[in-house]
Amino acid sequence: MNKISYHNHTYLCKHAIGEPMDYIKRAVELHYREFGMSDHGPLVPGWGLRMTMKQYREIYLPQIAKAKEKYQTQIQIFQGLELEYLEEYQEHYQKLLLDLDYLILGQHVCYYKNKIHDIYRFMNDETLESYKDLVIQGMESGFFKILAHPDVFMYKHPKWNQKTEEISRQIIESAINNHVILEINVNGIRQKPFLNDKNQITYIYPRLEFWSLVAEYPTALTMIGEDNHDPALIGDEACVIACNMARRLGLKPITKLLGD
Ligand SMILES: [Zn+2]
Ligand SMILES: [Zn+2]
Repeated sequence: MNKISYHNHTYLCKHAIGEPMDYIKRAVELHYREFGMSDHGPLVPGWGLRMTMKQYREIYLPQIAKAKEKYQTQIQIFQGLELEYLEEYQEHYQKLLLDLDYLILGQHVCYYKNKIHDIYRFMNDETLESYKDLVIQGMESGFFKILAHPDVFMYKHPKWNQKTEEISRQIIESAINNHVILEINVNGIRQKPFLNDKNQITYIYPRLEFWSLVAEYPTALTMIGEDNHDPALIGDEACVIACNMARRLGLKPITKLLGD
């Protein structure tokens, strides 16, 4: 196990439980070395499952500070957020980075017929292109260190095909060129596996076909992202499965990011 974790949520996103203190206490118990909080950040006003700007300032940052005060001699603690990339938010990302150690790019939306589209609703060739474009623009922006679940576009896409392979390669190559880390997301492993067209066991993400492609690129940076929405899940069985999957594919997820 890697003993670093940079993808952790809090109750503020309304679909997770626990405060920074609860996560960090558990991470200390498990002898983690580096631990980052990265709840879903404030973006489009009125978007449901995320904290507001006010909560970010008045609750999220102070709660992390409190946990740091208590545990900083036992673990290195970092503060970040998980955010989508949309072109009109340049200043927003810049401002957030004044307080934060890192941003994770978690692209849960794209455009469909010029409107914001939730990628969990459906995916087709048009939304796939838009997802890929936004992810690549996000990586090129320089604001993001990690690309969360790069393969999440398969969540509602009917089939792995030439098109999905093509956009996967473009995403992987852009990550390499922009020094962005590709995240093997553990949270998808907490859902049921299934058989792909080649009768191989895969998860909705990490998707075996995608990570087999990543393995063709020796310079691609990868990491295990626990994407914990509950402190009790830190270092769970799904994390072990993710590590084993990476090893089987010959990937070497990083074991150190911002720590010294
Ligand atoms: Zn979430
Ligand atoms: Zn997440």
